[in-house]
Order: sequence, then C-alpha cells, then structure tokens
Amino acid sequence: MGSAVPISRILDIGANVLPRVMHLALSELGTPAIRNRATLGGNICIRERRMSAFPVYLLLDIQLELKRAGTTRWIPLSRFAPGGGKIDLQRSEVLTRIRIPFAAWDFEVYRRINRETSDSADFLSFCGLARTEKNVIQDIRIAYGTAGSEVIRSREIENELVGRKLPIGKRELGPIMEILDAALALAADALTSFKRERIRSLLGWFLAELPDR
Ligand SMILES: Cc1cc2nc3c(=O)[nH]c(=O)nc-3n(C[C@H](O)[C@H](O)[C@H](O)COP(=O)(O)OP(=O)(O)OC[C@H]3O[C@@H](n4cnc5c(N)ncnc54)[C@H](O)[C@@H]3O)c2cc1C
Repeated sequence: MGSAVPISRILDIGANVLPRVMHLALSELGTPAIRNRATLGGNICIRERRMSAFPVYLLLDIQLELKRAGTTRWIPLSRFAPGGGKIDLQRSEVLTRIRIPFAAWDFEVYRRINRETSDSADFLSFCGLARTEKNVIQDIRIAYGTAGSEVIRSREIENELVGRKLPIGKRELGPIMEILDAALALAADALTSFKRERIRSLLGWFLAELPDR
C-alpha cells in the first residue's frame, strides 16, 4: 500500500482485503474528516507518539519501505518504532510503501477505551490476536496503545500463553497478571490507575473470550 493513501480510501478499497482487525482500527480512527485527510504513512511517522491503531500495525507485523536518494530499505515496524518516541527515519528519508502480511487469525479483537479522542490522558487502545487448535493456543499476540510514546507488549506473557489449554483458569491467570504488572512498571509513559486497571481487565476479558475449539 502506498504511504500517502488517505485512510478513508484504504477503508473503501480494502474492506475485503485488509485484515479485519486493521479495517476496524482504521474505521475508528478520528472523524470522517480526519480519515479523509490523514494518510497511513503520516499516522505511522508521527515521531513522538504511537497513535490509536499502532498496536494493530505492530501485531500484524507490517513492514515499511523507506527511500532516500538512491537507497531503499525494508524494515519491520517493530524496529522502525521501538518505543520511547523515537522512529528510525533517517535524514531525507521518506516512508513510501507499507506491506501488510495476511496471516489467518481465529480470533482478532480491537478495542478503544475513551474513544472520543486519542489526546485524553485515559485513552487506551487494545489489540489481541490468537490462533487456536484443538483447544490449545498456537499463537497469541497482545498489545496496548496509550497514544503516548510507546506501545505496551509483553512477549513474556505471549510465550507463557502459547501451548496452554483453553479455557484459561483463574489460577493460571494470577501469574500472568503478575508478569503484566511487571511490564507496566517498566512502561516509559506514566500510566494512570484507570489505565492500569483497564489494561489488566482487557487482558482478562480477551483470555476469557478465546474460543475453545
Ligand atoms: C480531531 C482529531 C482526532 C484524531 N483522532 C485520531 C485517532 O483517533 N487516532 C489516530 O491515530 N490519530 C488521530 N488523529 C491524528 C491524525 O490521525 C494524525 O494527525 C494523522 O494520522 C497524521 O497523518 P497525516 O497524513 O496528516 O500526517 P502529517 O500530519 O502530514 O505527518 C505526521 C508526521 O509524519 C511525517 N510524515 C508524513 N508522511 C510521511 C512519509 N511518507 N514519510 C516520512 N515521514 C512522513 C511528517 O513529516 C510529520 O512529522 C486525530 C487528529 C485530529 C485533529
């Protein structure tokens, strides 16, 4: 996808092509007027903030094509925007294309808390993806966006969950929440107690909703 395509255009042409969760995240981004103007490239390249759909871009493992005179490089989003507000955009470089892999997920969720504005101190977005087989988690990815300088993702939780049988029991949930609390304690942005509580409850909710089949 070209980086300068407005989000409304991506939504029009991509309804049957985009991963469902990405379509949902883009359709909830700002107002119709904002979506007509804002481009996907601009949404990714804001230096100091990771915007509302960022957790989705990250978990889908999108790849970016960056160009400057005579050189082209492809880089995964996770390396382009590793957190703390920095992006790996070099002098005179522009983001030209965005590659979105099409992996099949059995369960894909995107939620916005405090949906009116991504500028609110209590803004939170959540993305969860899972693949299950015979009641066992094969792959799972979980990330939160705070519209601050980083996205919260704990690989340790994901690794803990892979191979677990569904449903996840209350006793199993305790140690997972402890890992989450440790990850939140390391978050670069100050998190309000409302956000912390929502982050915990979203994880509990997502795990409870995973279809056992
Ligand atoms: C009322 C309102 C509500 C909003 N709600 C949301 C929301 O819910 N979720 C959300 O995510 N955002 C929201 N936004 C922010 C909006 O989506 C962003 O401003 C927009 O995504 C930026 O896209 P743009 O194309 O206008 O980029 P620009 O503002 O033009 O650029 C942003 C930055 O990226 C750089 N840049 C742009 N394109 C490239 C490129 N191709 N290569 C390299 N660098 C580039 C620019 O130099 C600039 O530094 C909202 C904004 C408003 C005003």
